[in-house]
Amino acid sequence: MVHVSQVVNDADLNKSLGPGLENLNIEDFGKKDEYHTSVYGSHYATRELPRFEMPEEEMPREIAYRLIKDDLSLDGTPTLNLASFVTTYMEDEAEKLMIDAFPKNFIDYEEYPMSAQIQNRCVNMIARLFNAPVHEEESNAMGVSTVGSSEAIMLGVLAMKKRWQAKRRAEGKPCDKPNIIMNAAVQVCWEKAARYFDIEEKYVFCTATRYVIDPEEAISLIDENTIGICAILGTTYTGEYEDVKKLNDLLVERNIDVNIHVDAASGGFVAPFVNPGLQWDFRLPKVTSINVSGHKYGLVYPGVGWVVWRDPEYVPKELIFTINYLGADQASLTLNFSRGASQIIGQYYQLIRLGKSGYRAIMSNLTRTADFLAAVLEKLDFIILSQGGGKGLPLVAFRLDPAKGHLYDEFAISHQLRERGWQVPAYTLPVAKEPGAKPIKLMRVVVREDFSAARGRALIEDIKLALGVLNAMDQKKLDEHREHVQRSVLARWKTTGHRRRVDEHYVGKGKGVSQGEQAESPLVGEKTNGVC
Ligand SMILES: *Cc1c(COP(=O)(O)O)cnc(C)c1O
Repeated sequence: MVHVSQVVNDADLNKSLGPGLENLNIEDFGKKDEYHTSVYGSHYATRELPRFEMPEEEMPREIAYRLIKDDLSLDGTPTLNLASFVTTYMEDEAEKLMIDAFPKNFIDYEEYPMSAQIQNRCVNMIARLFNAPVHEEESNAMGVSTVGSSEAIMLGVLAMKKRWQAKRRAEGKPCDKPNIIMNAAVQVCWEKAARYFDIEEKYVFCTATRYVIDPEEAISLIDENTIGICAILGTTYTGEYEDVKKLNDLLVERNIDVNIHVDAASGGFVAPFVNPGLQWDFRLPKVTSINVSGHKYGLVYPGVGWVVWRDPEYVPKELIFTINYLGADQASLTLNFSRGASQIIGQYYQLIRLGKSGYRAIMSNLTRTADFLAAVLEKLDFIILSQGGGKGLPLVAFRLDPAKGHLYDEFAISHQLRERGWQVPAYTLPVAKEPGAKPIKLMRVVVREDFSAARGRALIEDIKLALGVLNAMDQKKLDEHREHVQRSVLARWKTTGHRRRVDEHYVGKGKGVSQGEQAESPLVGEKTNGVC
């Protein structure tokens, strides 16, 4: 190894370092290298990784790489993470394109006009997939790429709010108390959107037997301050599609001037291929905006999402910024400014590489795998809460049969599976606000692209094993087990520096969202939904 000190005259170099740096001993640079012959032979291997204060000194890149990689090995295995909808597999060619795009800031349209154009191509294809009424073959649809459905939903909600406010102002009416109607089982980003933008949340609650929005009840909540209704195509909890058509028809029949935003985060890339006859999109006149997560069944690594509108009319001009940036005027409609271009390129790759037939083949296979899994779980005496046959998302939501008097619950099974590496979350459904309404515990397996039938079989074997272990325990053993689960969850949280109370695992809080074992980010709030 050639040391800096060997090729440069020390005195010269020290001079050129400038004021304040004259006393830097250039010899130190070289000396340190001597320790770095091997990662685990270096003094770095004997120390804690820095956690609070940025270290004063550099460390060699191969050591930093190896130590961080080792640290990350305590994360779960993405392919065994059945808690998440988010893509864990892409083809090598897609990865190559995405790596090439790492240095590109997507917002620099002037410098990277092709990336910008590729975004527009994706928007056009997705809007047409959702049957947007774009009349000319080559006209652009209204929409934008985002970091995920959360940002997409925030933009959709903002557009509804601003449009409602403009209407109220024109009528000389107050516009300071907007509200939005949604299922109490919405994904947490809806609560965020409402709270961040000062919109009152009006909930339709689930019941012990209904986990989707009740259209009649939703309509009955509408008042003059309602900016819109959210309908979910694939709820987070059971993967069911809410009845958008019914909502639409009621609004049309009763001539109510309120529109629907469809949260198709998960279902947007499934329903058009598996269940093309289902009317949930812009074919329904009251549906004015739709979001979809590119990083869920859009088959792209996180994070990319999309929001598209029926017509530019539904996006108030005040939300669109024309910025003169680096030499060109450009329209901007996003919450954040800079972002990577990779995910957008990855989305375009998937859309044109797979085409509709590719997506159809994948989504049909996933649906079949989910159906197979559901059938086996039913034989094992579980109650299935999700819908098969393509009527909902390719996932299986299931619970123990309360009539069977099990001494353990879904959280115990979830933990047992984790010991084999599987991450299958247990959580509670936000059921009715009626006094005494017991939260329903359930578990969910999301069938993603890389979850083949073979993997499904392996999972079933391990579920049988887990049940065998738990069935063999008496009450005392199960109490001990429960304590062990709590302690190991606590230990994991300690690793992440996360200090949440463990018993929240067992007790639904507030609106009833309990976390399962997945909510480990130090930033997650009380009601953050660990299933994402
Ligand atoms: C995942 C999900 C979201 C949030 O989407 P992100 O892309 O993770 O921001 C919103 N709504 C539903 C129904 C979801 O499943």
